[in-house]
Amino acid sequence: MNNRVIFLFMLILERGICFENCKPNIAIIGGGIGGAASSHFLSELFKSNLNIDLYEAKTIGGRLATIKIDDNEFEAGGSIIHPENKYMQQFVKLLGLEHAPTNDQRAGIWNGNEFVFEESNWSIISLAKLLYRYGFQPFTLNRYINSIVNSFAKIYDLQDAGKSFENITSFLTIMNAEFPKLLQVSIKEHLLSLGYTDKLIDEIVKATSVVNYGQDTNIHSFVGSVSLAGAGYNLWSVKGGNKKVPEHLIYRNKNVNVVPSCVTKVINLPKEDGTNLYEVYYHNKDSTTVMSSIYDIVIIATPLHHNQEFPIIFEGFPRVDVFSDIGKYHQTMVTFIKADLKPHYFGLIEEIDGILSCEPNKTIISSVGRLNSVEGGSKHSKVWKIFSNRQLKPEIINEMFSNINDAKNITWEAYPEYSTAVHEAKFKLHRALYHVNAIEWAASAMEMSAIGGRNVAILAHKEFSQKNCKFNENMQTDVPENTPSVEL
Ligand SMILES: Cc1cc2nc3c(=O)[nH]c(=O)nc-3n(C[C@H](O)[C@H](O)[C@H](O)COP(=O)(O)OP(=O)(O)OC[C@H]3O[C@@H](n4cnc5c(N)ncnc54)[C@H](O)[C@@H]3O)c2cc1C
Repeated sequence: MNNRVIFLFMLILERGICFENCKPNIAIIGGGIGGAASSHFLSELFKSNLNIDLYEAKTIGGRLATIKIDDNEFEAGGSIIHPENKYMQQFVKLLGLEHAPTNDQRAGIWNGNEFVFEESNWSIISLAKLLYRYGFQPFTLNRYINSIVNSFAKIYDLQDAGKSFENITSFLTIMNAEFPKLLQVSIKEHLLSLGYTDKLIDEIVKATSVVNYGQDTNIHSFVGSVSLAGAGYNLWSVKGGNKKVPEHLIYRNKNVNVVPSCVTKVINLPKEDGTNLYEVYYHNKDSTTVMSSIYDIVIIATPLHHNQEFPIIFEGFPRVDVFSDIGKYHQTMVTFIKADLKPHYFGLIEEIDGILSCEPNKTIISSVGRLNSVEGGSKHSKVWKIFSNRQLKPEIINEMFSNINDAKNITWEAYPEYSTAVHEAKFKLHRALYHVNAIEWAASAMEMSAIGGRNVAILAHKEFSQKNCKFNENMQTDVPENTPSVEL
């Protein structure tokens, strides 16, 4: 054998070993949009050279779910998507899904005594009413929120360029150095300091934070701004249900093995060479027999908080505060009802499609809205969705509605309980243990979980490759650029 052949043989051997080492075993805990996005972006980054076990204790989709009322499905969790939400748009295109048809709806802001603002059937009259009550401030506020949305949109180029972040402060700072400061001041104080009036804040701004997050204007001003962006135009949802996005991303990804089980424990297993593995304990939905598997990387794609439905124990980690320093989630009740609205109860002469409360302690409800089915819908749907912070008593429902045909409800641990107390949420909890939902402490939304999913995918890929794939870059250049990187 001449030297060249020996060299080639050694290279092949090394690359062979490298292929082995370069193929991580990954556990993703949670099959909502955050876990689904993580699995998608990991498959893309590792060019499908990976194994993913995705654990789901309940139903793929998580907080993206539908409920059946009278033979039609309706959005029960995350419903509306902002037009600038690039990943949700991309996923819908990639998966061959469609936007649900929409129709115009008329809404008003109710303080329990009267409607402080009510849209008209004529947009010119709505505009005149808005100007009359609030002057030009709604328009300047809209411009300000758009500037925040534009700064935030830098995240897409940054992620395309492979940038990743270990915590919320570094994540927000790169888009705009002012963003982390928004976590420390309430939306009310922030807008007052910018010269907005109490009237605008206590009515329009509060109505959006109450309907979107069940909380008032004491929420920090970053999430307050996201909430205001969610009150804009051209909002959309996925035809057939938003949950189709995580379902298709997960089930059509050949690298993902869905494990319908509840994870109970993650143990850190340090190795002598200074690296480590993780042992994940889980039990099947219908059994108490505990099983375990070993992974190079673990991605937690579910919120860690004090009221978790399926708590996870972390053992053998040097810092326990990382797992115990977690916040509280806000409970939101959603009631679905097929009935006729009683306009008189709200002080109205005729039905309106949406009622937003700016005084939830007084009104009991946070909002009432006419609901279209996930297929898009008729203008005269008789199904209503009521958000509230407390369970609604049947007497209240009977006061608000007549001809009640069907009523169902869901209680969600919906989103973080936001405040201005600094909570440094971390995407990286340990060497190769990551947490997608750290991002929810900046703001909770489907797109945010997708961005969080891509962030931990980039972090995990970068850190794993640096340690294990010495020849990884050489191998990657062998793949033609236009080769689809994720098999669907
Ligand atoms: C009522 C409501 C309305 C909303 N409205 C909007 C909206 O209009 N627009 C918007 O953008 N966002 C909205 N949101 C927020 C949005 O739905 C969420 O931010 C997003 O869906 C979170 O996705 P996720 O994958 O990060 O978490 P989740 O969807 O919560 O997924 C986590 C998954 O992990 C599973 N899991 C948990 N623990 C374990 C365990 N130990 N083992 C295995 N599996 C486990 C859970 O069963 C769940 O399926 C709303 C949320 C709610 C509740």
